[in-house]
Amino acid sequence: MYGCHGKLLRVDLSNSKVNEEEIPESMHRKYLGGAGLATRYLWDEVPKGAAPLGPENKLIFMAGSLTGVVAPSTGRFSIVAKSPQTGIWGQANSGGRWGVDFKRCGYDGIIFEGASSKPVYLVVEDNKAELKDASHLWGKNVPETTGLLKDELGEKFNVACIGQAGENLVKYAAVMNDLGRAAGRCGLGAVMGSKNLKAIAVRGSIKTPVSNPEELKVHSKKQYELMDEAMLKMAMQAFGTTVVLDLVSVRGGFPTRNWQSGVFEYSDDINGPAISDNILTKNITCFACPIECGRGTEISKGKYAGHKGEGPEYETVGTFGGMCFINDLEAITMAGYLCNDYGIDTISAGNTIAFAMECYEKGILTDSDTGGIAINFGDPDVIVDLVHLIARREGVGDLLAEGTMRMSQKLGQDSEDFAMHVKGLELPAYDSRAVQMTGLTYATANRGGDHITAYVQGPTFVDAPFLMIEDSEIKDPFVADPSEVKVAVDLEDMLTTFDCVGACKFMGLCLNADDWVKLVNLVTGWDFDTAEYKQAGERVYNLARAFSNREGLTAEGDTLPKRLLEEPLPDGPAEGHVNELSILLDKYYQLRGWDEQTGKPTAEKLRELSLDDIAAEIWS
Ligand code: SF4
Repeated sequence: MYGCHGKLLRVDLSNSKVNEEEIPESMHRKYLGGAGLATRYLWDEVPKGAAPLGPENKLIFMAGSLTGVVAPSTGRFSIVAKSPQTGIWGQANSGGRWGVDFKRCGYDGIIFEGASSKPVYLVVEDNKAELKDASHLWGKNVPETTGLLKDELGEKFNVACIGQAGENLVKYAAVMNDLGRAAGRCGLGAVMGSKNLKAIAVRGSIKTPVSNPEELKVHSKKQYELMDEAMLKMAMQAFGTTVVLDLVSVRGGFPTRNWQSGVFEYSDDINGPAISDNILTKNITCFACPIECGRGTEISKGKYAGHKGEGPEYETVGTFGGMCFINDLEAITMAGYLCNDYGIDTISAGNTIAFAMECYEKGILTDSDTGGIAINFGDPDVIVDLVHLIARREGVGDLLAEGTMRMSQKLGQDSEDFAMHVKGLELPAYDSRAVQMTGLTYATANRGGDHITAYVQGPTFVDAPFLMIEDSEIKDPFVADPSEVKVAVDLEDMLTTFDCVGACKFMGLCLNADDWVKLVNLVTGWDFDTAEYKQAGERVYNLARAFSNREGLTAEGDTLPKRLLEEPLPDGPAEGHVNELSILLDKYYQLRGWDEQTGKPTAEKLRELSLDDIAAEIWS
């Protein structure tokens, strides 16, 4: 077997047992490794109706088939579980180099099952693994935990862990690795906390077998050279992911004051150039990635001066900045640092705080609810204070730790109308009223309100050489055109493959699809043509959907917050627009081969994807 070791660790936390298991080659190829393979295990092993924070749920870490090989941006791994935020399929993905160091231990994945009665961590080294007591780590944040484990085990160990947010079961707690990298979405840090699992420390020296190493070197070199010419690489190297802020603003789609507007008049204070001019100290990159989109930063002025760390990325700026109506770059940066230290997803945290601000403005949240804290739009200190409270579940932080969907259910008074989530997952910083196709992909994305399941940000981003779509043009982002829905479907399928093979989706915006598939084949020895490879992505996409259908997701769940459907943007280039979702949704279901009544993939579609057993179960 190439591109993998063909084995995983099964860790029974209830009984403190660690075992090795083989992964059949056929399963590897069928689901491409990474998130795809993990999703198959999730389907097979997590029973319908399992409580996301109960022992029946499983937490599955899986490296991709390309993780750690000589190819660009291949340092990623995925975590899959039933999400405590959404109650459906949950997946989070992270870069850095933890995934590479883990895979070099000689394993492709770990399945954690059950729950430990006391805090533990797992240490993995070449072909062996052991559970150890983590009592001394419980209550520590991410840098403290990482530092203590390195002191204990050796500097060369790399650590993935939760902070206090995961321990306290904050619904959007992240699993952190390499200090500042987050497997952030879907609350999988809370799943880890529910199992009393604090950390996984890894150090390995076992190389992944590669089918054709010589040709891989030559072909990879060519890809690195092509990337050097890619505009995206140059832009992200200079300004990080925040480079998109100005592009989003040009369309009037930068969510402001909890999505009450798409125009943030102070965006120049917090955009990519502002970060470079004021806080950037160095670029940070993931394993084998020439793009270097990460930001190493230090705050040099104001009350947070002297703090340093990683970020902010675009989503941190968008959620803590525009959504909370804050142009204080230092406070936004500090809130981001704290999220990294406590292990919190910044998208959900910033969005939830913005929701609380609007509730406070409307008198739905009062001083008696907040303990006297005035949660006002535009107050930079409030975002920092609230991150502390959320992570510790103290005071009003206990309410905010539940996320916007549960908060609105509790608060009532029509607050659900402006709770900006889909299926319980808070939306990222792109107002979909300014790009109709983004609204469709928010409504249908497998893990809920998500932007990278299909990154459809208008012509700038869909016009990428990677897309093997005959007509990939979105002519006018403001217009809901059913003839363009195929762009979204194809993007979802192709980008799914990145989470499976362990590569960064930004690569998809730089490279050619055929070249990329050749690279996958050179590593794995598989013989995919591009169409068959894309179909493997479609298979995984439908498998994840079927898991959520089994958990009760129906077509009704494929919708958007009322604000996006019924409140026109009041100003800017997208003024007057709402999401015209229904125009696109019918076509989407048709192209996907999903049943319009139940929202399930049809039995025919599942059989076409060689998922006969899934069809038999969900249509029984
Ligand atoms: S583009 Fe950014 S996130 Fe992706 S691998 Fe490179 S440095 Fe990491």
